[in-house]
Amino acid sequence: MEIKPLKQYSPKEVDQSLFETGKKIYPRALSGWFATWRWTMVWLTQITFYGTTWLTWNNRQAVLFDLVARKFYIFGMVFWPQDFIYLAVLLVIAALSLFLFTAVAGRVFCGYACPQTVYTQIFMWIERKIEGDRAKRMRIDDAAMSPRKFILKTAKHAAWIAVALWTGFTFVGYFTPIRTLAAEVVSFDLGPWQIFWILFYGFATYGNAGWMREQVCKYMCPYARFQSAMFDKDTLTVTYDGQRGEPRGSRSKQADLSTLNLGSCINCTLCVQVCPTGIDIRNGLQYECIGCAACIDVCDQVMDKMHYPRGLIRYTTEHALVENLSKRGIWGRVLRPRTLIYSGILGSIILITALSLAMRLPLKVDVLRDRGMPRIMEDGSVHNVYRLQVMNTEEAPHRYTIEVGGIPGAEIISDNSFAVPAASTTAVPVRVRVALGQGEPGSNKIIFTVQDHDDKRVSVTEKAVFLIPR
Ligand code: SF4
Ligand code: SF4
Repeated sequence: MEIKPLKQYSPKEVDQSLFETGKKIYPRALSGWFATWRWTMVWLTQITFYGTTWLTWNNRQAVLFDLVARKFYIFGMVFWPQDFIYLAVLLVIAALSLFLFTAVAGRVFCGYACPQTVYTQIFMWIERKIEGDRAKRMRIDDAAMSPRKFILKTAKHAAWIAVALWTGFTFVGYFTPIRTLAAEVVSFDLGPWQIFWILFYGFATYGNAGWMREQVCKYMCPYARFQSAMFDKDTLTVTYDGQRGEPRGSRSKQADLSTLNLGSCINCTLCVQVCPTGIDIRNGLQYECIGCAACIDVCDQVMDKMHYPRGLIRYTTEHALVENLSKRGIWGRVLRPRTLIYSGILGSIILITALSLAMRLPLKVDVLRDRGMPRIMEDGSVHNVYRLQVMNTEEAPHRYTIEVGGIPGAEIISDNSFAVPAASTTAVPVRVRVALGQGEPGSNKIIFTVQDHDDKRVSVTEKAVFLIPR
């Protein structure tokens, strides 16, 4: 067999990098209907995020994930490690909601509510306020370092760092009471973990929203990669109407479109200039598009100036473009099998979870039998000892009573009434006596019932084993 020599590559071919160096994007400021929605979402999400930690409920922080005490407080509810199932359900609801919203309106979450989008928008706003809009920022970056440039850049980064640190501080405030945390910051008395997490979260915010921006969406976010699996031909996406727009070309505002051999696109490239990911939507749907609709706003403004109908770039579906569907026809297809199935599953899970939360008993009981051998007393009765872990999940102390059943004549001979402080667990030792001749030699099923002293509806039954020597 003839062995072929290896191909010789030129130095230029060898140096070819597989990594595409990203060009800095300078999105132009804009206003419009969708921009207003984006800012509304920024305000809503950030007021919620920064404000929630300062709310008080029952003389404590309203929302606090106390990892040390292993208790999660969410307004009037207290969740314990035993309630982990609710966290799992929450994740399932979040995933299904994402599937549903994506099937209906593409990357609507990315465009309006994703933290990366929201913080990038805040950081870009700061940048614009300090350095100016697109053209000014480009000029500043192209210019050599000067005192003015240095001051502008320093001011921008200082403002970014302040927002990032405040974000890190708020994040930690969900796990440590924020008022205590604030006092510790003021007195320079923070613990090492608090310092680490404030800096870590702050650094992630500063890096992602200030520096990496669209790179996070393009290269790091997995959702961009698998979103196409959730799209179908009736999914609303930001789309350029090529049939109407092409052939594109510049023209005077006074020119009569019907006499020109041109489409509606005047090739002003404003849709590219406002795009936070720097793509040209006229090239079709691309995975980099985060569905922010900035290009719709700006193109509508161009169409208004040209006295052309709006909607050259618009939210539409593949079917709508092919079949020329009206708005009513498009929305009529929102209710299709895929969205109905997602909605049905999502609605059922939310309903079951809400019912389960509403019916959740504020009392949990675990029964542990003492490892020691059962004791046979002088009168022939048998004693077994247990330890009951009684958890009061309410934020008020409660008194409980214990009863025992399952074996005829079984009785509790230790104190069977006890109190458990608010939102805490108490271990209660319980001694059970079974008279001579009752029960079977060996293992017997015994039932403990723990009942709230004041509210008979709050009652938990647990099984255990009562041993009678053979
Ligand atoms: S903004 Fe509209 S008119 Fe201008 S280039 Fe983009 S699609 Fe064409
Ligand atoms: S193409 Fe339009 S919708 Fe997509 S990211 Fe760019 S501006 Fe936003």
